Amino acid sequence: MIKVNRNYLKLKSSYLFSEISKRVASFEAASPGTPIIKLGIGDVTLPLPRACIDALHRAVGELAEKETFKGYGPEQGYEFLREAIAAEDFRSRGARVSADEIFVSDGAKCDTANFQELFSNDIRVAIPDPVYPVYLDTNVMAGRTGQAINGRYEGIAYLECTRENGFVPGLPEEPVDLVYLCFPNNPTGATITREALAAWVRYARENRALILFDAAYEVFIRDPGLPRSIFEIDGAREVAVEFRSFSKTAGFTGTRCAYTVVPRDCFAFDDSGEKHSLHALWNRRQTTKFNGVSYPVQRAAQAALSGEGKAEVASLVDYYLNNARHVRERMAALGFACTGGENSPYIWVNAGMGSWEFFDLLLEKAGVVCTPGAGFGKCGEGYVRISAFNDFDRVQEAMERIGRALAV
Ligand code: PLP
Repeated sequence: MIKVNRNYLKLKSSYLFSEISKRVASFEAASPGTPIIKLGIGDVTLPLPRACIDALHRAVGELAEKETFKGYGPEQGYEFLREAIAAEDFRSRGARVSADEIFVSDGAKCDTANFQELFSNDIRVAIPDPVYPVYLDTNVMAGRTGQAINGRYEGIAYLECTRENGFVPGLPEEPVDLVYLCFPNNPTGATITREALAAWVRYARENRALILFDAAYEVFIRDPGLPRSIFEIDGAREVAVEFRSFSKTAGFTGTRCAYTVVPRDCFAFDDSGEKHSLHALWNRRQTTKFNGVSYPVQRAAQAALSGEGKAEVASLVDYYLNNARHVRERMAALGFACTGGENSPYIWVNAGMGSWEFFDLLLEKAGVVCTPGAGFGKCGEGYVRISAFNDFDRVQEAMERIGRALAV
């Protein structure tokens, strides 16, 4: 008899997006002719930068000729892309990261999901609440938790992100070994200051802990005082791994390219205290389970880091940031306390009522779809997330509809 992995049975069903679709479908059936505006999704809406499209075409042309054809590439990514990333994303900002510390992949989702494989099952894991669900669910799948009781898995150290701490978690009161941090944050849109991030790096150094830093939204940071990489913080190279993605920067959500930085100075320890290089372990993992990102996609990612590509990415990001500013200003004018929407594409709105109650109100009275905060964790109850990934005229119309709906 084939037996199931019982850890999978502990997972709460991914109720959030299916429940949203269900409620939207039943509203549409009841009110045909009311066009719905979706501000719930974290997917981009603008096309790829021209520089990336041109690079894709050129690379496809190379695959068509025997002389320039490419088969399997290096599992870690082509040198041309790893070099461009090290130079443009790190060295240009004074962060010491070398090309061979960059592992190119097809998504920050799979990298943030897979990285925990390198660690023992008896480590103590700290996960923010609310959170991008991948970090939590993959630790459940791996067997690092007990059952979910009242929306919380046994064995996880939850880092509560609340209005009181500005949605930036304080240091844990109990010792933890692995910490997930994400800034700019999904779902709260919060950013972290250099000082607060430095405190986390100090904590990790003092406790021989490791920080998994998800910087998928770093390109939205416009405030020059905010860190865009954890490697801008002194001492982080020994205690942090960083995840980045071209998804929300150059619009690669469907094209798929991301990368993970694993410094050669990072180690995990065995029972006798002997250290093991995380770089070597991740390399072993990737070369065993992954066969690289396609050549044309890596050429397109390289183009996103060229002068022309960077200018186009900046204008894509400007567009979404303008949407975000509009949402934030309109919701604030209606009396809602908001976080994010500056240096971030997400606006976290204090609904003043239950998450789902507010979701239903916006859907039924305004035909606008947001994401209920409760779907991201216990501390998300009472909030909704509004995404800036949409066309400006739709965002504008959504805000007008919400204004009218709440005025009556
Ligand atoms: N990390 C965070 C915080 C995200 O919100 C997302 C996507 O929404 C990802 C990672 C996934 O990125 P990718 O498209 O590279 O898999």
